Amino acid sequence: MGFPWAHGASSPVSTMVRTSVLKNIIFLEHWYALRVAWSVLLCHAPGRPWTGDGGLCYSGNMAMDNRVVLDGVKMAGELRAEVARRVAQLRDDGIVPGLAVILAGENPASVSYVTAKEKACAEAGIASFAHRLPATVSQEEVVSLIRQLNADARVHGILVQLPLPKGMDEAAVLREVIPEKDVDGFHPVNVGKMMLGEPCFLPCTPHGIKVMLERAGVQTAGKHVVVVGRSNIVGKPIANMLVQKPANATVTVCHTGTPDLSVFTRQADILIVAAGRPDTVTADMVKEGVVVIDVGVNRIPDATRPKGFRLVGDTDFAGLSQKASLITPVPGGVGPMTIAMLLANTIQSVLKSNENHETGVKYGT
Ligand code: NAP
Repeated sequence: MGFPWAHGASSPVSTMVRTSVLKNIIFLEHWYALRVAWSVLLCHAPGRPWTGDGGLCYSGNMAMDNRVVLDGVKMAGELRAEVARRVAQLRDDGIVPGLAVILAGENPASVSYVTAKEKACAEAGIASFAHRLPATVSQEEVVSLIRQLNADARVHGILVQLPLPKGMDEAAVLREVIPEKDVDGFHPVNVGKMMLGEPCFLPCTPHGIKVMLERAGVQTAGKHVVVVGRSNIVGKPIANMLVQKPANATVTVCHTGTPDLSVFTRQADILIVAAGRPDTVTADMVKEGVVVIDVGVNRIPDATRPKGFRLVGDTDFAGLSQKASLITPVPGGVGPMTIAMLLANTIQSVLKSNENHETGVKYGT
């Protein structure tokens, strides 16, 4: 496709060549084009073979060999290193990617997520603009800040940490972030485009799951994927992504209205659990060899831990790991991938904004 990175050009590539790469992106069309750009961004680190498959990278040493546990920390670290290399190249061209994070209130989990995101930005060389607001901030003030950030050329991505303080209309606030900077992929425009299979920012957690499966070498095509949970941020989008080509899975979505969950979980070749409840799926509810992606993050009391709690997922990890061919741990599975995808989306936004700058082509048209 004319991408020097994609054919093993030495790194760092020259400024001229990189400029030409940005221009080439303009001529690529539709979803395939974005997937190729995405592959270039995420998958083609120097020294890694170009697969040319529009986004799927199967790298032997990234699969977990014979081990059953899918190490999200390691995989996310590799992704973040790839993002950092891209950032370094952009910085050589005088472009500094920027991510703004808005945190309203002091919800402990949110504070810790935002801190982790800021740290990840710093490590990747992405400028982070942190806006930590008191819980008493009004919706109008948050909206006003978002509008400023929408207009700020230094900011390529805007993240509004959820939950917002009680009384705020989260959906209305999220709609204020312009789709071009919606690196969380929550704006209805991006959600709609995702549904249609058009280029857009994909929401970070489900996208992280998809990349995780791809990079671990898990084939989804022709497989039965069972998703437990139908939230807008995990269940619905991951089901939607995996049912589309080229993922090409047959997908079943379960929820609290599903009469007997185990009837469906036992059929799963790949089981994705995002229920927000420990032990929602236990070993007796799955078949041998299933691939388990546990999205849940639950705090349960544990007097032996300094903080008095520990984190567990939504599945019985000990039991399931006896039957699963691959399983993600909690912590250290999906969570780190979510942050890595946020950084990657920010770089994707930089590439798009440069494309717009050079051509006058508006993103998404
Ligand atoms: P959510 O909005 O609470 O949705 C939970 C979904 O699970 C709902 O659709 C619910 O069904 C379904 N559900 C709950 N119990 C069930 C059961 N026993 N059987 C079948 N379905 C059941 O949660 P979420 O935002 O998707 O998050 C899910 C979990 O993932 C949470 O633990 C969250 O902390 C974690 N999470 C982790 C990350 C990460 O980066 N690691 C990111 C996002 C979320 P109904 O619709 O019928 O109520």
